[in-house]
Amino acid sequence: MKIDFNKNANGLVPAIVQDNETKNVLMLGYMNQEALDTTLVTRKVTFFSRTKNRLWTKGEESRNFLELISVTEDCDNDALLVKVKPVGPTCHTGLDTCWQETNNQEFGFLSKLEKTIKDRKEKAESEKSYVASLFEKGINKIAQKVGEEAVEVVIESKDSNDDLFLNESADLLFHYLILLQAKGFQLNDVVKVLQSREK
Ligand code: AMP
Ligand code: ZN
Ligand code: ZN
Ligand code: ZN
Repeated sequence: MKIDFNKNANGLVPAIVQDNETKNVLMLGYMNQEALDTTLVTRKVTFFSRTKNRLWTKGEESRNFLELISVTEDCDNDALLVKVKPVGPTCHTGLDTCWQETNNQEFGFLSKLEKTIKDRKEKAESEKSYVASLFEKGINKIAQKVGEEAVEVVIESKDSNDDLFLNESADLLFHYLILLQAKGFQLNDVVKVLQSREK
């Protein structure tokens, strides 16, 4: 590796720890040459702790190790990106990340939409929205809507009108997200099942 530990007088470089799967940033630590070497040999992320003033393997007490996937230097060789598979919560507070975030997979716009749907569910009675009214009517009604939209997708797939097919697909996905939420699940729960099937 081309990382330069001599850019800082203390021989330390910042190491950004990222979940390889969700891409969330979990924590920031510092490494010296010995910490990096230890990390590469043990495959468990090891820092140089400035407070402990010694090598510190994350998880040495809590057993919440960060299993190494890869480590790379940045453009000017003065910072490291450490991709990991966390064994448990990364922060000593017990939360997933040191920025007090939940280490969920992000699905871009779909995650935003999922959050809006969740908000509507939480204040279903006071809201005058279509989504809120669906939650009021209950799971059976929502499931029925998913069924209807699925049939519409099937019908439009036989046709050559791309616009109608895409619109019905959007309806299906939208109502499916509502059904998931009504059941207390999120897209991530379904993705996890798909990932577990991967050979
Ligand atoms: P652990 O390495 O998880 O066994 O934690 C041992 C000690 O390291 C804790 O008691 C904290 O003082 C510190 N520590 C653990 N996790 C973090 C973290 N993500 N950032 C900073 N310090 C931490
Ligand atoms: Zn840099
Ligand atoms: Zn923390
Ligand atoms: Zn439709």
